[in-house]
Amino acid sequence: MRASLTNISPVRQTAILSMIATLLSFTFTGSLYLLFFGMDDHFWGAMGLALLVPWGISIPLGLYMAKQRFKLTSLTNRLKETQVKLRRANKALEQRANFDGLTGLLNRDSFITRFDQMREDELTDDMANVLMLVDVDHFKNINDNFGHPIGDQALALLGQAFRKILRKDDLIGRIGGEEFGIFLPDTSAPEGQIIGEMIRHEIENTIFKPHHNMRHVITVSIGLTDIAPHQERAALMANADTALFAAKRGGRNQVVLFEPGLRAKPRPVHDEPRDLKATVLGSNFR
Ligand code: GH3
Ligand code: MG
Ligand code: MG
Repeated sequence: MRASLTNISPVRQTAILSMIATLLSFTFTGSLYLLFFGMDDHFWGAMGLALLVPWGISIPLGLYMAKQRFKLTSLTNRLKETQVKLRRANKALEQRANFDGLTGLLNRDSFITRFDQMREDELTDDMANVLMLVDVDHFKNINDNFGHPIGDQALALLGQAFRKILRKDDLIGRIGGEEFGIFLPDTSAPEGQIIGEMIRHEIENTIFKPHHNMRHVITVSIGLTDIAPHQERAALMANADTALFAAKRGGRNQVVLFEPGLRAKPRPVHDEPRDLKATVLGSNFR
Protein backbone atom coordinates (compact mmCIF):
# COMPACT_ATOMS: atom_id res chain seq x y z
CA MET A 1 0.00 0.00 0.00
CA ARG A 2 1.27 3.48 -0.84
CA ALA A 3 2.25 5.48 2.27
CA SER A 4 0.79 8.98 2.51
CA LEU A 5 0.83 11.65 5.19
CA THR A 6 -2.83 10.98 6.02
CA ASN A 7 -2.42 7.34 7.05
CA ILE A 8 0.34 7.82 9.60
CA SER A 9 -0.32 8.70 13.22
CA PRO A 10 -1.02 12.35 14.21
CA VAL A 11 2.08 12.39 16.48
CA ARG A 12 4.32 11.42 13.59
CA GLN A 13 2.48 13.79 11.29
CA THR A 14 3.10 16.63 13.75
CA ALA A 15 6.77 15.71 14.12
CA ILE A 16 7.34 15.51 10.36
CA LEU A 17 5.51 18.76 9.64
CA SER A 18 7.33 20.50 12.51
CA MET A 19 10.69 19.37 11.21
CA ILE A 20 9.88 20.56 7.68
CA ALA A 21 8.58 23.89 9.07
CA THR A 22 11.69 24.25 11.27
CA LEU A 23 14.02 23.53 8.37
CA LEU A 24 12.22 26.08 6.17
CA SER A 25 12.06 28.65 8.97
CA PHE A 26 15.75 28.10 9.79
CA THR A 27 16.87 28.45 6.17
CA PHE A 28 14.55 31.36 5.41
CA THR A 29 15.33 33.35 8.59
CA GLY A 30 19.06 32.60 8.34
CA SER A 31 19.25 33.70 4.68
CA LEU A 32 17.24 36.90 5.25
CA TYR A 33 19.19 37.76 8.40
CA LEU A 34 22.53 37.34 6.68
CA LEU A 35 21.28 39.29 3.66
CA PHE A 36 20.08 42.29 5.67
CA PHE A 37 22.30 42.34 8.79
CA GLY A 38 25.25 40.11 8.02
CA MET A 39 26.81 37.87 10.65
CA ASP A 40 26.59 39.65 14.02
CA ASP A 41 26.10 38.91 17.76
CA HIS A 42 22.32 38.51 17.43
CA PHE A 43 22.44 35.95 14.64
CA TRP A 44 22.21 32.83 16.81
CA GLY A 45 19.49 34.38 19.00
CA ALA A 46 17.40 34.96 15.86
CA MET A 47 18.10 31.44 14.73
CA GLY A 48 16.92 30.17 18.15
CA LEU A 49 13.62 31.94 17.60
CA ALA A 50 13.45 30.53 14.09
CA LEU A 51 13.69 27.10 15.68
CA LEU A 52 11.09 27.70 18.40
CA VAL A 53 8.29 29.41 16.46
CA PRO A 54 7.41 26.46 14.13
CA TRP A 55 7.29 24.07 17.09
CA GLY A 56 5.12 26.54 19.04
CA ILE A 57 2.62 26.55 16.20
CA SER A 58 2.75 22.93 15.13
CA ILE A 59 2.41 21.28 18.58
CA PRO A 60 -1.05 22.81 19.38
CA LEU A 61 -1.97 22.16 15.74
CA GLY A 62 -0.90 18.52 16.10
CA LEU A 63 -2.94 18.15 19.29
CA TYR A 64 -5.99 19.56 17.52
CA MET A 65 -5.47 17.17 14.59
CA ALA A 66 -5.14 14.20 16.98
CA LYS A 67 -8.43 15.16 18.64
CA GLN A 68 -10.16 15.43 15.27
CA ARG A 69 -8.67 12.13 14.17
CA PHE A 70 -9.94 10.48 17.37
CA LYS A 71 -13.46 11.84 16.74
CA LEU A 72 -13.34 10.61 13.15
CA THR A 73 -12.18 7.14 14.22
CA SER A 74 -14.99 6.80 16.80
CA LEU A 75 -17.51 7.98 14.19
CA THR A 76 -16.17 5.46 11.65
CA ASN A 77 -16.36 2.66 14.24
CA ARG A 78 -19.95 3.56 15.11
CA LEU A 79 -20.77 3.60 11.41
CA LYS A 80 -19.22 0.15 10.99
CA GLU A 81 -21.21 -1.22 13.98
CA THR A 82 -24.41 0.21 12.50
CA GLN A 83 -23.56 -1.39 9.15
CA VAL A 84 -23.05 -4.79 10.81
CA LYS A 85 -26.39 -4.45 12.68
CA LEU A 86 -28.14 -3.43 9.47
CA ARG A 87 -26.67 -6.38 7.60
CA ARG A 88 -27.82 -8.73 10.39
CA ALA A 89 -31.32 -7.23 10.38
CA ASN A 90 -31.50 -7.59 6.59
CA LYS A 91 -30.43 -11.21 6.81
CA ALA A 92 -33.05 -11.91 9.49
CA LEU A 93 -35.72 -10.23 7.38
CA GLU A 94 -34.69 -12.21 4.32
CA GLN A 95 -34.71 -15.39 6.40
CA ARG A 96 -38.21 -14.63 7.68
CA ALA A 97 -39.47 -13.75 4.21
CA ASN A 98 -38.13 -16.86 2.47
CA PHE A 99 -37.95 -19.60 5.07
CA ASP A 100 -40.38 -21.38 7.33
CA GLY A 101 -39.61 -20.57 10.96
CA LEU A 102 -40.48 -24.01 12.29
CA THR A 103 -38.51 -26.27 9.96
CA GLY A 104 -35.99 -23.88 8.43
CA LEU A 105 -37.09 -25.07 4.99
CA LEU A 106 -38.22 -22.76 2.18
CA ASN A 107 -41.73 -21.43 2.68
CA ARG A 108 -44.42 -22.04 0.09
CA ASP A 109 -43.89 -18.82 -1.90
CA SER A 110 -40.11 -19.18 -2.07
CA PHE A 111 -40.37 -22.84 -3.00
CA ILE A 112 -42.68 -22.03 -5.89
CA THR A 113 -40.62 -19.05 -7.03
CA ARG A 114 -37.38 -21.02 -7.00
CA PHE A 115 -39.02 -24.04 -8.58
CA ASP A 116 -40.18 -21.86 -11.51
CA GLN A 117 -36.83 -20.07 -11.70
CA MET A 118 -34.84 -23.29 -11.80
CA ARG A 119 -37.07 -24.87 -14.43
CA GLU A 120 -36.77 -21.74 -16.56
CA ASP A 121 -33.07 -20.94 -16.17
CA GLU A 122 -31.11 -23.97 -15.05
CA LEU A 123 -32.60 -27.06 -16.63
CA THR A 124 -31.81 -28.36 -20.08
CA ASP A 125 -34.32 -30.25 -22.24
CA ASP A 126 -32.40 -33.53 -21.97
CA MET A 127 -32.42 -33.43 -18.15
CA ALA A 128 -34.80 -35.63 -16.19
CA ASN A 129 -36.28 -34.01 -13.07
CA VAL A 130 -38.68 -35.01 -10.35
CA LEU A 131 -41.27 -33.21 -8.24
CA MET A 132 -42.30 -34.83 -4.98
CA LEU A 133 -45.08 -34.07 -2.52
CA VAL A 134 -44.76 -35.44 1.00
CA ASP A 135 -47.66 -35.46 3.47
CA VAL A 136 -47.48 -36.68 7.06
CA ASP A 137 -49.82 -39.57 7.80
CA HIS A 138 -52.51 -38.98 10.42
CA PHE A 139 -50.75 -35.87 11.61
CA LYS A 140 -53.95 -34.60 13.16
CA ASN A 141 -53.72 -37.50 15.61
CA ILE A 142 -50.34 -36.27 16.87
CA ASN A 143 -51.85 -32.85 17.62
CA ASP A 144 -55.00 -34.32 19.11
CA ASN A 145 -53.17 -36.75 21.37
CA PHE A 146 -50.03 -34.87 22.36
CA GLY A 147 -50.85 -31.23 21.69
CA HIS A 148 -49.93 -28.69 19.04
CA PRO A 149 -46.41 -27.86 20.39
CA ILE A 150 -45.45 -31.54 20.19
CA GLY A 151 -46.84 -31.56 16.65
CA ASP A 152 -44.54 -28.63 15.91
CA GLN A 153 -41.58 -30.61 17.22
CA ALA A 154 -42.48 -33.46 14.87
CA LEU A 155 -42.50 -31.04 11.93
CA ALA A 156 -39.08 -29.69 12.89
CA LEU A 157 -37.74 -33.26 13.00
CA LEU A 158 -39.05 -33.84 9.49
CA GLY A 159 -37.10 -30.82 8.27
CA GLN A 160 -33.92 -32.41 9.62
CA ALA A 161 -34.73 -35.77 8.05
CA PHE A 162 -35.20 -34.19 4.59
CA ARG A 163 -31.93 -32.31 4.86
CA LYS A 164 -30.13 -35.48 5.88
CA ILE A 165 -31.23 -37.35 2.75
CA LEU A 166 -31.38 -34.67 0.08
CA ARG A 167 -28.62 -32.98 -1.87
CA LYS A 168 -27.54 -29.35 -1.60
CA ASP A 169 -29.13 -28.42 -4.93
CA ASP A 170 -32.49 -30.05 -4.24
CA LEU A 171 -35.31 -27.68 -3.30
CA ILE A 172 -37.26 -28.48 -0.15
CA GLY A 173 -40.20 -26.39 0.96
CA ARG A 174 -42.95 -26.55 3.53
CA ILE A 175 -45.84 -25.85 1.22
CA GLY A 176 -48.68 -26.52 3.66
CA GLY A 177 -49.25 -27.34 7.32
CA GLU A 178 -47.78 -30.85 7.20
CA GLU A 179 -47.09 -31.00 3.48
CA PHE A 180 -43.73 -30.60 1.82
CA GLY A 181 -42.65 -30.06 -1.74
CA ILE A 182 -39.35 -31.42 -3.00
CA PHE A 183 -37.82 -30.70 -6.38
CA LEU A 184 -35.01 -32.97 -7.49
CA PRO A 185 -33.19 -31.56 -10.52
CA ASP A 186 -31.26 -33.91 -12.78
CA THR A 187 -33.03 -36.96 -11.35
CA SER A 188 -34.89 -39.69 -13.23
CA ALA A 189 -38.24 -41.08 -12.03
CA PRO A 190 -36.70 -44.39 -10.83
CA GLU A 191 -34.02 -42.44 -8.95
CA GLY A 192 -36.77 -40.23 -7.52
CA GLN A 193 -38.59 -43.34 -6.30
CA ILE A 194 -35.44 -44.55 -4.56
CA ILE A 195 -34.92 -41.15 -2.94
CA GLY A 196 -38.60 -41.14 -1.91
CA GLU A 197 -38.11 -44.54 -0.27
CA MET A 198 -35.01 -43.25 1.52
CA ILE A 199 -36.98 -40.30 2.87
CA ARG A 200 -39.88 -42.51 3.91
CA HIS A 201 -37.49 -44.92 5.63
CA GLU A 202 -35.52 -42.13 7.34
CA ILE A 203 -38.70 -40.57 8.76
CA GLU A 204 -40.14 -43.89 9.86
CA ASN A 205 -36.92 -44.55 11.75
CA THR A 206 -36.57 -41.09 13.24
CA ILE A 207 -36.82 -41.30 16.98
CA PHE A 208 -39.66 -39.01 18.02
CA LYS A 209 -40.54 -38.96 21.69
CA PRO A 210 -43.73 -37.01 22.40
CA HIS A 211 -43.29 -37.95 26.06
CA HIS A 212 -40.43 -39.17 28.19
CA ASN A 213 -40.99 -42.90 27.97
CA MET A 214 -42.88 -43.02 24.73
CA ARG A 215 -41.80 -43.31 21.12
CA HIS A 216 -44.13 -42.43 18.29
CA VAL A 217 -43.43 -43.55 14.74
CA ILE A 218 -44.11 -40.85 12.18
CA THR A 219 -44.84 -42.00 8.67
CA VAL A 220 -45.29 -40.08 5.46
CA SER A 221 -46.95 -40.69 2.13
CA ILE A 222 -45.12 -39.52 -0.97
CA GLY A 223 -46.37 -38.79 -4.45
CA LEU A 224 -43.93 -37.98 -7.22
CA THR A 225 -43.93 -37.16 -10.85
CA ASP A 226 -41.28 -36.73 -13.47
CA ILE A 227 -41.13 -33.37 -15.13
CA ALA A 228 -41.20 -32.90 -18.87
CA PRO A 229 -39.58 -29.66 -20.08
CA HIS A 230 -41.91 -26.65 -20.25
CA GLN A 231 -44.73 -28.42 -18.42
CA GLU A 232 -47.00 -26.06 -16.48
CA ARG A 233 -46.40 -25.90 -12.75
CA ALA A 234 -50.10 -26.41 -11.96
CA ALA A 235 -50.15 -29.62 -14.04
CA LEU A 236 -47.02 -30.92 -12.33
CA MET A 237 -48.43 -30.17 -8.87
CA ALA A 238 -51.69 -31.87 -9.83
CA ASN A 239 -49.83 -34.98 -11.03
CA ALA A 240 -47.76 -35.22 -7.85
CA ASP A 241 -50.92 -34.63 -5.81
CA THR A 242 -52.73 -37.43 -7.64
CA ALA A 243 -49.83 -39.77 -6.87
CA LEU A 244 -49.92 -38.61 -3.23
CA PHE A 245 -53.64 -39.39 -2.98
CA ALA A 246 -52.96 -42.81 -4.45
CA ALA A 247 -50.34 -43.36 -1.72
CA LYS A 248 -52.88 -42.34 0.94
CA ARG A 249 -55.56 -44.56 -0.56
CA GLY A 250 -53.11 -47.42 -0.81
CA GLY A 251 -52.74 -47.40 2.97
CA ARG A 252 -50.25 -44.54 3.57
CA ASN A 253 -46.54 -44.87 4.44
CA GLN A 254 -45.63 -45.47 0.80
CA VAL A 255 -44.19 -43.85 -2.30
CA VAL A 256 -46.22 -43.66 -5.52
CA LEU A 257 -45.03 -42.47 -8.92
CA PHE A 258 -47.59 -40.65 -11.05
CA GLU A 259 -48.80 -42.48 -14.12
CA PRO A 260 -51.37 -41.18 -16.60
CA GLY A 261 -53.79 -43.95 -15.55
CA LEU A 262 -53.97 -42.71 -11.96
CA ARG A 263 -57.10 -40.84 -11.12
CA ALA A 264 -57.23 -37.97 -8.67
CA LYS A 265 -59.98 -38.67 -6.18
CA PRO A 266 -61.35 -36.66 -3.32
CA ARG A 267 -59.42 -37.16 -0.09
CA PRO A 268 -60.62 -40.14 1.90
CA VAL A 269 -62.59 -39.34 5.05
CA HIS A 270 -60.09 -39.35 7.92
CA ASP A 271 -60.14 -42.13 10.43
CA GLU A 272 -61.41 -41.19 13.84
CA PRO A 273 -58.42 -40.02 15.93
CA ARG A 274 -57.15 -42.95 17.85
CA ASP A 275 -56.21 -42.62 21.49
CA LEU A 276 -52.48 -43.05 20.91
CA LYS A 277 -51.51 -42.69 24.57
CA ALA A 278 -53.60 -45.75 25.36
CA THR A 279 -51.95 -47.83 22.65
CA VAL A 280 -48.29 -47.47 23.39
CA LEU A 281 -47.65 -50.91 21.94
CA GLY A 282 -50.06 -50.35 19.07
CA SER A 283 -49.11 -50.28 15.42
CA ASN A 284 -47.99 -46.66 15.48
CA PHE A 285 -45.55 -47.12 18.36
CA ARG A 286 -42.28 -48.91 18.76
P1 GH3 B 1 -53.68 -37.82 6.35
O1 GH3 B 1 -52.93 -39.05 6.67
O2 GH3 B 1 -54.88 -38.10 5.53
O3 GH3 B 1 -52.82 -36.78 5.74
O4 GH3 B 1 -54.20 -37.26 7.73
P2 GH3 B 1 -53.78 -35.95 8.50
O5 GH3 B 1 -54.33 -36.07 9.86
O6 GH3 B 1 -52.34 -35.75 8.40
O7 GH3 B 1 -54.46 -34.84 7.62
P3 GH3 B 1 -55.27 -33.58 7.96
O8 GH3 B 1 -55.17 -32.69 6.76
O9 GH3 B 1 -56.63 -33.91 8.44
O10 GH3 B 1 -54.51 -32.92 9.17
C1 GH3 B 1 -53.47 -32.09 9.03
C2 GH3 B 1 -53.25 -31.48 10.37
O11 GH3 B 1 -52.04 -30.73 10.42
C3 GH3 B 1 -54.35 -30.54 10.75
C4 GH3 B 1 -53.65 -29.33 11.34
O12 GH3 B 1 -54.13 -29.03 12.63
C5 GH3 B 1 -52.22 -29.79 11.45
N1 GH3 B 1 -51.28 -28.70 11.25
C6 GH3 B 1 -51.16 -27.86 10.21
N2 GH3 B 1 -50.16 -26.98 10.40
C7 GH3 B 1 -49.62 -27.26 11.62
C8 GH3 B 1 -48.55 -26.68 12.38
O13 GH3 B 1 -47.86 -25.75 11.98
N3 GH3 B 1 -48.29 -27.24 13.59
C9 GH3 B 1 -49.02 -28.28 14.08
N4 GH3 B 1 -48.70 -28.77 15.26
N5 GH3 B 1 -50.02 -28.82 13.37
C10 GH3 B 1 -50.33 -28.33 12.17
MG1 MG C 1 -51.43 -35.53 6.52
MG1 MG D 1 -52.01 -32.59 4.48
